[in-house]
Amino acid sequence: MVSRVIPVDTFDLVIFGGTGDLARRKILPGLFRRFCSGQMPDEARIIGAARTDFDSKGYRNLVAEAIAEFGGKTLADCADLPRFLERLEYIKIDARGDEGWADLRDMIRNDVITAYYFSVGPGLFGDLAQRLNSWKIATSDSRIVVEKPFGRDLTTAKELNASLAAEFDETQIYRIDHYLGKETVQNLMAIRFGNLLFEPLWNSQYIDHIQISVAESVGVGGRGAYYDKSGAMRDMVQNHLMQLLCLIAMEPPSKFDPDAVRDEKLKVIRALEPVEPHELVRGQYSEGPEGPSYREEAGDPKTFTESYVALKAKIANWRWSGVPFYLRTGKRLKARASEIAVVFKKLPHSIFGDEGDEGQNILAIHLQPNEGITLDVTIKEPGPGGMRLAHVPLDMTFAETLGDQAEDAPDAYERLIMDVIRGNQTLFMRGDEVEAAWAWTDPIIEGWQRRNDVPKLYDAGSSGPDDALALLHRDLRKWRDIEP
Ligand code: NAP
Repeated sequence: MVSRVIPVDTFDLVIFGGTGDLARRKILPGLFRRFCSGQMPDEARIIGAARTDFDSKGYRNLVAEAIAEFGGKTLADCADLPRFLERLEYIKIDARGDEGWADLRDMIRNDVITAYYFSVGPGLFGDLAQRLNSWKIATSDSRIVVEKPFGRDLTTAKELNASLAAEFDETQIYRIDHYLGKETVQNLMAIRFGNLLFEPLWNSQYIDHIQISVAESVGVGGRGAYYDKSGAMRDMVQNHLMQLLCLIAMEPPSKFDPDAVRDEKLKVIRALEPVEPHELVRGQYSEGPEGPSYREEAGDPKTFTESYVALKAKIANWRWSGVPFYLRTGKRLKARASEIAVVFKKLPHSIFGDEGDEGQNILAIHLQPNEGITLDVTIKEPGPGGMRLAHVPLDMTFAETLGDQAEDAPDAYERLIMDVIRGNQTLFMRGDEVEAAWAWTDPIIEGWQRRNDVPKLYDAGSSGPDDALALLHRDLRKWRDIEP
């Protein structure tokens, strides 16, 4: 299979926070990859903007260092770096002051696509949006890209939405959830809606339950103090895990179009039932050979913030009635592994009697570290000796199945930025979606705060707190192993 790279139209992309961690680790190396692949045109420009004093030469050095540090081997081998760096400019600007805005206005071309990436803390989103308009820099065709976290509850999310809506139309706002840019997550939609095979089985008649797991082996490390203000529920569940749940649970949209897809996702979020206290487990990792405890890394010996959450979500509609969606995410677990597992029901009747041990079919969508899809099926064990059955995965690990094409697949950020330039909002969250997600999450958080709930300790390098195991055991089910 030959990979097709379609160049996007020429653009000016301004990265507010162009000197920050996200810009250096993800956005700029990602753009360089798109440049090397031929997708970013030679005439496009990237303008870094922040308060630090740099000239364009100094900024290009910073970007070259970031690419060397975070770009990986493919980028180190790409000979196009000098040409890419020429596409970079820098503007010293203050989101809260007047400095730099006139220079930015003079620099922006009005005959190309213009996009403004807010890679700064959410406290500055409103200031940036307002100045882009009051300085007459943005036009009705400009796009703005905003990072997570999008609020810390429904009230703050509404405030943020209002501050953006005061300046821009919803069709111009691209709220990033980088999970939606992952190759496998998009493949989930292709598998569901591009094959006849699965959709007839995709309901409570054939599916027993769904597991969505996002496990990290690292702890919060140096980000402890920052992370402690949010915790796993706000940092992961409200956005990434809920988006995955939506893609699994939504009705087939009539077309692959931004609003058709997002309308269906929104219906799922609105159909989520409240989570009962016994359907929720929060945890915190303790000290272990891998490193200090969560509390030590957070710098607060009494903090009750969770580094782990597991919960049982239920969707009140015809398709999913009685099918639990078990969600879990945590840090400092035994491996870095994320997957969605669709566990089908047991056979209604075994024709193989005692010899047979037909397991359940499981469709597993592996998000990281190795992206791919497996389908566990039952076959006869080869050889003589009667009808012994075995469960084997039909394995579609992309790196093996698609070879170089999978290797060259864009990372989530680069794909999403190219979608911004193309003006395609399908993989971005709409304002009402984000608010609905908070409306479901807020009562869960308020509930544990009211109960003074204390997170359960779990061993670093384990699968999480024992109570999370019990969450499924009670339903006569068990979590799949967390394995890379
Ligand atoms: P960061 O490293 O602290 O960078 C913040 C950037 O904002 C810097 O370039 C800073 O540069 C600039 N800045 C701060 N105040 C400014 C002002 N008044 N005017 C203009 N520029 C200003 O933060 P980050 O980690 O890159 O995160 C940026 C955003 O992405 C945050 O919303 C974060 O939650 C989100 N995010 C980050 C990650 C990640 O992996 N880092 C992942 C997901 C989401 P100066 O100090 O020079 O002005």
